[in-house]
Parts: sequence; structure tokens; C-alpha cells
Amino acid sequence: MEERIIYIDGQFYPKSEAKVSVFDHGFLYGDGVFEGIRAYDGRVFRCEDHINRLYEGAKAIDLEIPMSKEEMTEAMLETIRRNGLRDSYIRLVVSRGMGDLGLSPDKCPKPTVVIIADTIAIYPPEMYENGLVAITASVRRNSASSLDPQIKSLNYLNNILAKIEANRVGAAEAILLNQNGLVAECTGDNVFIIKDGVIMTPPIYVGALNGITRRVVISVIKQLGLPFEEKEFTLYNLYNADECFFTGTAAEAIAVTMVDGRTIGSGKCGPITAKLLEEFRKVTRDPSQGKEIY
Ligand code: PMP
Repeated sequence: MEERIIYIDGQFYPKSEAKVSVFDHGFLYGDGVFEGIRAYDGRVFRCEDHINRLYEGAKAIDLEIPMSKEEMTEAMLETIRRNGLRDSYIRLVVSRGMGDLGLSPDKCPKPTVVIIADTIAIYPPEMYENGLVAITASVRRNSASSLDPQIKSLNYLNNILAKIEANRVGAAEAILLNQNGLVAECTGDNVFIIKDGVIMTPPIYVGALNGITRRVVISVIKQLGLPFEEKEFTLYNLYNADECFFTGTAAEAIAVTMVDGRTIGSGKCGPITAKLLEEFRKVTRDPSQGKEIY
């Protein structure tokens, strides 16, 4: 495979030479925001939604991105082109930039912008057929009163601790509850359950990222005319659901068949989930949903 070409602050570098300073506050403090985006069939899926979320997250942490949304989009498209990819997973990273060893951003005159276009597979292919096993993490989702989970910040320690718990017991994913014990989301995915034909996902305020895959799946549900509610729910509701699935850009959409040792529904990918996954895959390849790269 040819070496990946990486964008850093307006220049392109081969992966082996793509480097950021150890004084960058993204590295020293996790100070920054990022996006994970997919391209399907030569089009960036829901490009504007991702760019908008990046800029909103940056605003929330008082970080001014040193380029316009149009320039960011063009830099991303050019990075994908230089890597010759049609199907890709793209990472946009904007950190506070280089500063001194103190944490104050006022010593960081210029944010760092990095764009990586590569591929990703966070779960093995057979899990997309058979569903995955998840656990509930003992760590709770960051509270919105400390670090709002809506900000896709470079500080993923909360999620990483949850992932470590999952890894330790051989589960593919960890579910995070909020401070009140309500199901919030996973380490990199949103959660949906289905009970008696009604599809439910927690409202964003419970402590979830405003997932773009979540939005796409909700629009698919509405188009199909299926019963849907944004609703708070607990582990009790999750264990007793007929079906469960997770959504995320990297994960796409995937059935969940066991949580904390409880079999969900039939223990297989359920019929409503299967239909939604199928429709979701069609939408990802719908030309009207993507921005042309080439
Ligand atoms: N929650 C978290 C914590 C995430 O990191 C992600 C992945 N970006 C998601 C949910 C899913 O969001 P999206 O569908 O926009 O990728």
C-alpha cells in the first residue's frame, strides 16, 4: 500500500513525516476538537453536518478555527484525492496548537489543523452479521455540567476507560450511563432499542453526542413510518428490549445481541434492526447525501 498523505496546517506530508509538536496542547492536554467522517463511493457522507459539528464544538471550547468551513471542506477533499480513496474514514483534528507547558490557551497563538484520510474497521466483519456483545461500564458519561458530551473534544479518556472495561471482559463495546443511571451512549456510538415495535433512543440531553448516524437512522425510521420516540431509558429497558443496535460513523449501524450477560430479544439481529441496517446502507450510497470528491 502506498504511504498515506496527511494534511497539516496547509501542507501535505507522507505519513512517516507527518508530525506535530510535543508542545501542541492537543497532545499535552487533549485540548481541541475532532470529527470522524466517512466517504462512500467517492462522496463524503453528510459532509456539511460534520463540518458544522466541528465548528460548533470549537466554538463551545472557545477555539477559533483558522480557516473557513469552505476551506476546511476543500482541504479535506484534497486530502482524500491525494490518497486516491473512494471509500474512506476521514479524521479532522483541530487542536489549540503549540503553546508552553502551562495549560492556558493564551500561549497558543495558532490552532493546529490535521486531516487524515484512511480506512477503519472497529468491529470484525462477522459482528455485522451476528451482532455484538456489550457491557455497561462502571464509569459514567461525563456530565454536561463538566464537559458537555455534545462536544467532540480530543479528551476521550472517559470513553477510553469504558472501552478498557469492555476489552477486559472480551466485549466489543461498552455502554455508558449518565450520572442518573440512564443509558446515554457507547464509547463511540449512539444506542437504540426496540420494544413492542417502538424504536427508542435517548435524547441528546441525557448525555450523548448528537450523532450524525443517529440523525440519519432517525430519518430512515421516519421515512419508513415506523413508531419512534426519543426517550429516556434505563438498563432494565435495555435488557428487556426486543432488539438493540448501535450507530456511529466508524461503527455504521450494528446489532447488539447481549448486554451484561443478558440476551437481547432472540439473541440474533432482529427484523426491524435488519431492515434499518439495510436502508441505512442504501442512504450512505445515495448521491444526494454526499459531497463529490472527484
Ligand atoms: N458517541 C460518541 C462518544 C462518539 O464518539 C461517536 C462517534 N463520533 C458517536 C456517538 C456517533 O456519532 P456519529 O454518528 O456522528 O459518528
